[in-house]
Amino acid sequence: MSRRVVVVGAGFHGCSAALRLSNQGYEVTVIDKAYAGRHASGVNAGGVRRLGRHPAEIPLAIAAWERWQNMTSIVGDDCGFRPVGQIKVAENNNDMAILNERERQVQNLGYHHEKLINRDELRKRLPALAGHCPGGLACDGDGFANPYRTVTAWRREAERQGACFREGIEITDIEPKGNGWRLSGGEEHFDADLLVNCAGAWAGELCKWLGEPVPLTAEAPMLMITERLSPFLGTVVGATSRPLSFKQFENGTVLIGGGVRGVVDIVRHVAETRLDGLAENADTVVSLFPFMKEARIMRTWAGVEAVMRDHIPVIGLSSQHDNVIHAFGFSAHGYQLGPITGEIVADLAMEREPKLPITPFSIQRFQTPCPE
Ligand SMILES: Cc1cc2nc3c(=O)[nH]c(=O)nc-3n(C[C@H](O)[C@H](O)[C@H](O)COP(=O)(O)OP(=O)(O)OC[C@H]3O[C@@H](n4cnc5c(N)ncnc54)[C@H](O)[C@@H]3O)c2cc1C
Repeated sequence: MSRRVVVVGAGFHGCSAALRLSNQGYEVTVIDKAYAGRHASGVNAGGVRRLGRHPAEIPLAIAAWERWQNMTSIVGDDCGFRPVGQIKVAENNNDMAILNERERQVQNLGYHHEKLINRDELRKRLPALAGHCPGGLACDGDGFANPYRTVTAWRREAERQGACFREGIEITDIEPKGNGWRLSGGEEHFDADLLVNCAGAWAGELCKWLGEPVPLTAEAPMLMITERLSPFLGTVVGATSRPLSFKQFENGTVLIGGGVRGVVDIVRHVAETRLDGLAENADTVVSLFPFMKEARIMRTWAGVEAVMRDHIPVIGLSSQHDNVIHAFGFSAHGYQLGPITGEIVADLAMEREPKLPITPFSIQRFQTPCPE
């Protein structure tokens, strides 16, 4: 008999869960207070990156990357994925030492996707880069894709497999009902045997209702996009000691993201940019690509993102209820991981051991008392 599942949140992770659960014959309803892709999943920088991942995330990022190669066979659309590579640039010798150590650490774990490149190789790959940069760490095959198109493709495929999407309904209450749950929003009620929490920056509210609070902060990563420029950048660029993501699209526009955050209003569900923060992000770009000083910014925006205290997501079973699965808190780097979340959620729903190692992402890590 098909089990009823309610997924709260129609971001990439909710759509991924919906698709894989529907594939397995579950009766899936996805509920979103806005619409699919309205928040982080639809407005992000589109970076598809294994480079620089937390060690616990590397196996997931590699598995997700394999799915990105085969996106068309999964959802009938390549989602705009362009495997142009990513490079973390060293701005000085200290950065170079950090990257050297990082390459060694990753190789010691048995992975070889991150490779140190010297000044000459860096210059060959990034001719417009400022001359002072001594090298970088490259990950060939990484790249970028189109976020909103991705969410839409996964949502459509989930619908083709039978999932039902209900938009414009905010879940405001969850209570036990029989062996399952009753979720309420507005005038509507949804009964479920299994609840999947993919509520992004609002997932902490659901956790509170379920009796397992988590240290989640809503942050507002900011982006800006330039006018069309002549092609000068064939790969995605990041920095080593300061946050930066920098890429040029086929139409010539350049997307710039950085570490300085905007302002979140979690109650009104909006994120706003801060001019001083955008200026700081722009400064980083100009110091790496001096000619960008003349580039005109056409548009800026910010998105609401769930950031965990330890900057890795929560993926796994609830610690309190055997019919709740969590997948949230992707801490500003969850877009790339979207394709594998659904597979993990489906394994957990079917009480199968997930094929990927998810122990580090357990919600229980926040419940372990600190050692004396
Ligand atoms: C500006 C920006 C740039 C980024 N750049 C990158 C990048 O380059 N590469 C990368 O890998 N990651 C990036 N990220 C991070 C990535 O976008 C997120 O980690 C990922 O999209 C999170 O997806 P999600 O499905 O968990 O959350 P979301 O996409 O936020 O979806 C959660 C959904 O839940 C819904 N919801 C919440 N509460 C309720 C409720 N009570 N009732 C009903 N619905 C509810 C919300 O409306 C929302 O649609 C970026 C994020 C931002 C904001």
